[in-house]
Amino acid sequence: MIMSNSPCQDGGLTLRFWGVRGSTPVCGSDYAEFGGSTPCLEVRCGERLFLIDAGSGLFNCGQHHRADLPKEIDLLFSHLHFDHTGGLPFFKPAVFDGERVINTWCGNLDGASAEASLGRLYAPPLFPVTLDILPCQMKHHGFRAGETLTFPDGMEVDTLLLNHPQGSVGYRFDHGGKRLCVISDIEHSDPWPSPELRAFVEGADLLVYDGMFTDCEYPTCRGWGHSTWQKGVELARAANVKALGIIHLHPAHTDAMLRRVEAEMQAEMPTAFIARERALVDVGTIGTPRPRVVARSA
Ligand SMILES: [Zn+2]
Ligand SMILES: [Zn+2]
Repeated sequence: MIMSNSPCQDGGLTLRFWGVRGSTPVCGSDYAEFGGSTPCLEVRCGERLFLIDAGSGLFNCGQHHRADLPKEIDLLFSHLHFDHTGGLPFFKPAVFDGERVINTWCGNLDGASAEASLGRLYAPPLFPVTLDILPCQMKHHGFRAGETLTFPDGMEVDTLLLNHPQGSVGYRFDHGGKRLCVISDIEHSDPWPSPELRAFVEGADLLVYDGMFTDCEYPTCRGWGHSTWQKGVELARAANVKALGIIHLHPAHTDAMLRRVEAEMQAEMPTAFIARERALVDVGTIGTPRPRVVARSA
């Protein structure tokens, strides 16, 4: 089903995956189903838009929406590693609109905003221009993970510091009686889960979680800042989460492998799934064996 660009006419809570690949983009026939773009998520609370992360998936988000975006956009960074920031200057319909305001929110730098870090990344010789040259107006806001973000329209988003090199920020959206938690990038702790994380995601209708590795792969990747789908299932069970979506997919994990992993995971938790790029999930309809993917256009 092809849907409109405004998925939440009824005031519901939806999530669209514009990029679900971790670390580096990939492309080719082995990645056609799950996609190769790095993290970018679109969250709609009714008409209210949030973007989480500016990985390479942000490009397709911009191409899809074109001018159909609010004049002011809130971009919530989980953190600033390159796979979460590399798409920012390529968000064309927003960046090249002189009327547009892009608020960036960064919570893993002791209260500092992303401005100085992005200024180092986007400057010659690493990038031909600085972000302040772009027509849109960027306003960079810093906060400390753990704080609740309160926006001028009264919308609130809860945050939590996650275990990742340089830290990362988890986000929780409560809207229309539904709860969505986005927990990536994170490496699980021992014991698992921590009481803080368990409380943060308690009762979520959908938990989006970093499942870059399998349990078999993890021992050789310990300390890299990522987790496994098995730990996602453990967290979901401990916190009475209704459905689980896995993102930050390893760049070497092909469609064939991910389909096998998904079947294995669904044997453990039938409402769990591996996120597919461009899939739109209506968080409000969860309760069936698997979140209803209401659109996946080309
Ligand atoms: Zn990452
Ligand atoms: Zn990272």
